[in-house]
Amino acid sequence: MERQDFLFFIEQTDKFAVGIFRQFKIKEEKDSVILIAPTIAYKRWAIEYIRSRLSNYTKRIEVRSVEDKEESTYEYQSGLIEKYRFENFVVGKANELVYKVCLQVGQYPGVSYNPLFIYGSVGLGKTHLLHAIGNKAMEYGYRALYSPVSDFSEEMIAYLKKGQIDTFRNKYSNVDVLLLDDVQFLSGKERTQIELFKIFEAMYTRDKQIVLVSDRHPKDLKDISDRLISRFESGLVIEIGLDDETKLSIIKQKMILYGMPLDQKLINYVFENTGYNVREIEGAIKTLKVVGMKNTSKEKNTKDIKFVVEFTARHFKLKPEDLKRESKERRIINARQIAMYLCKVVLNASYVEISRYFGKKDHTSAIYAVKKVEEKIKEDRKFKYMLTFLEKQLKKELL
Ligand code: ADP
Ligand code: MG
Repeated sequence: MERQDFLFFIEQTDKFAVGIFRQFKIKEEKDSVILIAPTIAYKRWAIEYIRSRLSNYTKRIEVRSVEDKEESTYEYQSGLIEKYRFENFVVGKANELVYKVCLQVGQYPGVSYNPLFIYGSVGLGKTHLLHAIGNKAMEYGYRALYSPVSDFSEEMIAYLKKGQIDTFRNKYSNVDVLLLDDVQFLSGKERTQIELFKIFEAMYTRDKQIVLVSDRHPKDLKDISDRLISRFESGLVIEIGLDDETKLSIIKQKMILYGMPLDQKLINYVFENTGYNVREIEGAIKTLKVVGMKNTSKEKNTKDIKFVVEFTARHFKLKPEDLKRESKERRIINARQIAMYLCKVVLNASYVEISRYFGKKDHTSAIYAVKKVEEKIKEDRKFKYMLTFLEKQLKKELL
């Protein structure tokens, strides 16, 4: 008797659809209708149908799927940050494709690109997009869950200790959209990899969406099982980047956001003193807002930079002039990049002044050097120790 209302209405308007809705379990309440779909594919279809055809239906319609098990043993929390949305993501040449793909995935999870694997260096908006996908999917009625891999791993261990690993598996595989951040941290975590693989299989076979984010391509991930890597690569693997034009738009957007005038001088200042990293751009703008242009633009003493160069040269048994001359010698390039890096992190010198000191016209050479060194620190433990030592030593000598 109860279910008649909704189905009756559909029957009057759409003879075809009624056949499909008959396969749903339907619970009608006073102000709402709950449709329980036999599979995620049906759920997806119903969400789409309701949005396009039933947006004016007198009762609120909620769609669930029989696969959404009851959550009695755990509490569902999406982990999503609401402010990260598609609407406030600045799009340009180097991130346009990723943006479009993510939007598509947020609107139609599990259908087009599954799994979706996004990679790129730090501060390019990967985490932002991951949340944007989740927020969009939630808006459309899907259940999304965001988790950085390190949290995922810790949680897994906690459930394992309590002897409730099944609850853990359910919690993750029961959502429609699973968003995993920083998957490079799966490296060496064998048990976490095993659990993720299981969740992956359970979700994939039911057409549920998985989105993964990493700082590098799946092929470059280390100490992760081959079967997991091959799953990562089985859908769409896409890189996110940042180009000058987009960087400029982002600077302007952020300056507006922080209530600053779009002064050309300020814009240029931020542009030249930041790398291809939106977090760094945001930081520079915030600082600029607080301390103003005068103080931030006060150039570091060339004397300090000179000191860093001499220090670095000494360490590598080179002459300071060596670091400044054009050379293809690995040893020299390496030392120069380290010197530039130290100028940035220890002196907080601007890219422009660093590049200028080394006789480079273009400030991007210092940006490039700093990025190279940062990458190597991540990859090479010995190199990291050496740099930590150099940094400490340099700071002492600078005092
Ligand atoms: P990643 O995860 O790639 O390291 P995040 O997503 O954490 O980078 O981005 C760093 C910061 O920059 C965040 O505050 C984010 O909102 C912002 N951001 C990144 N890319 C963009 C963009 N294209 N438009 C607007 N804000 C961006
Ligand atoms: Mg991130």
